[in-house]
Amino acid sequence: MNKHRIAVIPGDGIGVDVINEGIKVIDTAKELTGGFDVEYTHLPWSCEYYLKTGRMMPEDGLDILKDHEAIYLGAVGFPGVPDHISLWGLLLPIRKEFDEYINLRPIKLLKGIQSPLRKGPEDIDFVVVRENVEGEYSGAGGIVHQGTPSETAIQTSIFTRVGTERVIRYAFELARKRGGKKSLISATKSNALNYSMVFWDRVFNEVAKDYPDVTARLMHVDALAGYFILKPEQIDVVVASNLFGDILTDLGSAMQGSIGIAPSANINPEKKYPSMFEPVHGSAPDIAGKGIANPIGAIWTASMMLDFLGESDAARLVFKAMEAVTEEGTYLTADLGGKATTQQVGEAVRNKMRQLV
Ligand code: ATP
Ligand code: MG
Repeated sequence: MNKHRIAVIPGDGIGVDVINEGIKVIDTAKELTGGFDVEYTHLPWSCEYYLKTGRMMPEDGLDILKDHEAIYLGAVGFPGVPDHISLWGLLLPIRKEFDEYINLRPIKLLKGIQSPLRKGPEDIDFVVVRENVEGEYSGAGGIVHQGTPSETAIQTSIFTRVGTERVIRYAFELARKRGGKKSLISATKSNALNYSMVFWDRVFNEVAKDYPDVTARLMHVDALAGYFILKPEQIDVVVASNLFGDILTDLGSAMQGSIGIAPSANINPEKKYPSMFEPVHGSAPDIAGKGIANPIGAIWTASMMLDFLGESDAARLVFKAMEAVTEEGTYLTADLGGKATTQQVGEAVRNKMRQLV
């Protein structure tokens, strides 16, 4: 039997509540499908941990994570701890150290959920593949002539051949594997960014030659943002640089009806290192401790993690049960207009799973 090692970092605020439900869902999937085992390493790394120790994770934190297949993360963030501490102290080092160069963001409207767009679930069902370790967020640059009238900030984007090609190739493979419209849109801005995006387009066109069965198209990111709203039903897979992907995926999660629903994965496709799975939302201090956070984002994320681990039956079961719950609409949290608690929604998903097998 396959035994998967998962590092669990619930983090802060509602991260703790939603990951708790996600773990129970994974355990139920394990029982019901019977084909695999899971060993969890529970890690208390969080802003609370930072306030006690001065670090988001221990010095050998990355070493501890190293021999896991996956990391299941809730959210980090706490009032009074600046965002850059949690970001640079935990999330970014993990993404970089483990070369999680793919950020996968399904933009899919679940049945029973209202999108702010006048569109139904059949119209909003695509995936954004965001480059996750370089590009505009490489951190290169500086400030020159500081304190003088000619003070100037320079922020350099870095697009390597390897880094650009591998994310684009992954997106083409995904478009092929999804077996839907087999179309890939690349977010560009080569009319204004005359080095980085011209290079990006060139690599995209080169790689496209290896995928004659996939319809490949370049779109300027500004036009693409409008396309998300006007014609989402035309979209299958989108590939974007770090910055463009960041903005487009937030737009995408809004289209899904609540930030509490959106899942994400930070993947190292070669499986050389652990990949990290986290709901898109943050720690939401305004509703922390109230037991009303929507666990759907974390549960959907768990389904993506199971799929990544090769447990596709379990992944499908979780997803189907979760969507059956949203479609029925009896157990929804306040962000979706319901009255259910986090635990009730988790329980409803698990009951559905038992009915579906
Ligand atoms: P962080 O600093 O960790 O990013 P945040 O306060 O910015 O935390 P977000 O997750 O970005 O929190 O969400 C913004 C708001 O959306 C929250 O304040 C909360 O009201 C709502 N929200 C987020 N996630 C959920 C959820 N899972 N269920 C219900 N409401 C949510
Ligand atoms: Mg936030």
